[in-house]
Amino acid sequence: MELKYKRILLKLSGEALAGEKKSGFDETVIASICGGIRKAHDQGVQIGIVVGGGNFWRGRSSGKMDRMDADKIGMLATVMNALAVKDALRQQGVPAVVMTSAVMPQVAETFTSDKAIAALEAGTIVVFGGGTGNPIFSTDTASALRALEISADAMLKATMVDGVYDKDPHKYPDAVRYETLTFTKVLDERLAVMDSTAASLCRDNDLPILVFDLGDPDNIARAACGEKVGTLVRE
Ligand code: UDP
Repeated sequence: MELKYKRILLKLSGEALAGEKKSGFDETVIASICGGIRKAHDQGVQIGIVVGGGNFWRGRSSGKMDRMDADKIGMLATVMNALAVKDALRQQGVPAVVMTSAVMPQVAETFTSDKAIAALEAGTIVVFGGGTGNPIFSTDTASALRALEISADAMLKATMVDGVYDKDPHKYPDAVRYETLTFTKVLDERLAVMDSTAASLCRDNDLPILVFDLGDPDNIARAACGEKVGTLVRE
């Protein structure tokens, strides 16, 4: 199959790794997601992955804790998730490496764009841990940033719904799904696709985002090949 996107940045939420449990890891679910990633990899797609941390911790919902410390804990949660995804990929025979924003040599390699691109070109999947390395930001923003740093053709945002709707499809049965959308509309109408920092970074740097349903992990390969899955956001 002809590839539409030769190099992608896949954003997985932390919650996706927890399955029904909503927190921690569900190894069966992680293996199934990684099976979908493997299929895309088998087709020759170069894949970078950013994983969120919401299955363990979110800085902004930490109550009384100092926000900077809370966000550091959140970033460390994303490193744990990155290690779990790397491990599950390797167990399926897919070469994978973790690169972190913060320096932690006993845990993983430190991210540089040169090293990441060299690994991708050699067919290794790079899982980026630690978000942007800065508090206040999100892993959506980290995904947009890493996508730009590795010159990805698109960011693929895997979610629990099959695209972007004009209102919450779980609450409103008449919600309409967009096939395409601009970042300006996402920002103006505050559509719940990604946070506005991530959306404006994508708009300013012309990075398309495909929002699609991870319920069927084969959608990852479908999306990379340009099949119609989900909603395409671009300016
Ligand atoms: N985080 C951060 N800086 C970053 C990325 C993440 O401080 O660049 C922290 C922040 O506390 C966030 C947590 O890590 O709440 C987990 O990330 P996120 O909420 O984006 O994960 P997701 O909701 O996608 O699982």
